[in-house]
Amino acid sequence: MTYTAPRGTRDILPEETPLWQFVEQKAREVFQLYNFHEIRTPIFEHTELFQRGIGADTDIIAKEMYTFQDRKGRSLTLRPEGTAAVVRAYLESNRHKQEPLSKLWYQGAMFRYERPQAGRYRQFYQIGCEVFGRGGAYQDAEVIATAQQLFAAAGLQNLEVQVNSVGCPVCRPRLKEKIQSFLGANLAQLCGDCRTRFGSNPLRVLDCKNPRCNEFLVGLPDLTDALCADCRTHFQSVHDYLDALQLKFQVNPRLVRGLDYYTKTVFEVLSGQLGAQNAVCGGGRYDNLVEELGGPALPAVGFAFGLERAVMLLQGQGAAVPGTLPYIFLLPLGAQADAQAVLLTAQLRRAGVPTEIDLADRGLAAKLKTASKLQARYVYIIGDNELHEKCGQLKDMRSGGQEKIGLAELAEIVAAKHREKN
Ligand code: ATP
Ligand code: MG
Repeated sequence: MTYTAPRGTRDILPEETPLWQFVEQKAREVFQLYNFHEIRTPIFEHTELFQRGIGADTDIIAKEMYTFQDRKGRSLTLRPEGTAAVVRAYLESNRHKQEPLSKLWYQGAMFRYERPQAGRYRQFYQIGCEVFGRGGAYQDAEVIATAQQLFAAAGLQNLEVQVNSVGCPVCRPRLKEKIQSFLGANLAQLCGDCRTRFGSNPLRVLDCKNPRCNEFLVGLPDLTDALCADCRTHFQSVHDYLDALQLKFQVNPRLVRGLDYYTKTVFEVLSGQLGAQNAVCGGGRYDNLVEELGGPALPAVGFAFGLERAVMLLQGQGAAVPGTLPYIFLLPLGAQADAQAVLLTAQLRRAGVPTEIDLADRGLAAKLKTASKLQARYVYIIGDNELHEKCGQLKDMRSGGQEKIGLAELAEIVAAKHREKN
């Protein structure tokens, strides 16, 4: 009997992890430049947190959550996104009372019961950030700049930043009306989801993944005309700050986000390389969520990007990050040599040298073959007859050259070579 990974999940194998680590490292570096601090929240939360935070008629709440009861009958849910939990943790730790500005970033697995396809999984990984306490347009632009710099640092090419405004509780009703009156005549032709959304949240029709629904949006008037004066000024100001930060962007008047908590600015980072799953990153402002989740009325803005999609893009560009290989492979030949070699592994690893050992009872040729398969840079051969001289042969696997080196000197000499290389 063999097992396979559950549908919609995948293993990230050692050939791929160096690229993941590379993106994660770049994210960490760029977040530091922008004064963000890492926060880690649980993988599951009370179901209610997401119901309250994400919005009842979003796809996530309606049909995508992994919800279960624990042994005491509590309803818990594997997190489908990061923001609600970060807001919860931010409030629970009283940071809102201690710091006027909080900039938090996170990374981790998210879970959504979606139809698996390229770039779309049921367990996937996001890196994201949230800024609490700044309502001005500058912060929106800075958050977009953070995303942009992060992708540039990771070497992602040909990305496009799209921005839009989805208004606020003052003007949202007008936006909704505009969409409803435009789509009304074709309501019966829309997909089932959109017919439901039409009444409750017509903005979400703009985000429908069904191409047939998209056809009925052709000719939709520019919704920015329906924004209130405050939202319009804010949006213009975001453009100005993006220009000031020398950031290229496109206004996409159709852009809305899948979660209900957004207000004013929304944005996405898109790639032409990803096919149907073309969004790498999405985010925006959510000025009502903190209050909605029981906190004070505090403005907030953030984004999240998908690591699978970022890594897919890098692979598509031919990027590869080599993993670490053993720098030295110890090949003892005989019982006494084995004991010496075990001691040497400890010395070498303590000295910072990636080390591997082959204690198998077999000949030199077989052991050399393994060392070369594992791409060791050096091997150190200790035969029983060299042992009385307290030395072994250090073989350079690249040049084939060989030199006699004392057991006592090996760690220091090899550590020096390794440091020189790095
Ligand atoms: P999409 O429109 O592709 O469904 P979304 O609007 O649901 O994305 P968000 O919830 O804003 O996405 O999440 C931000 C990012 O997380 C996305 O841009 C994408 O890169 C990634 N992401 C979202 N859902 C998945 C998934 N099921 N599998 C892999 N990555 C995902
Ligand atoms: Mg989605």
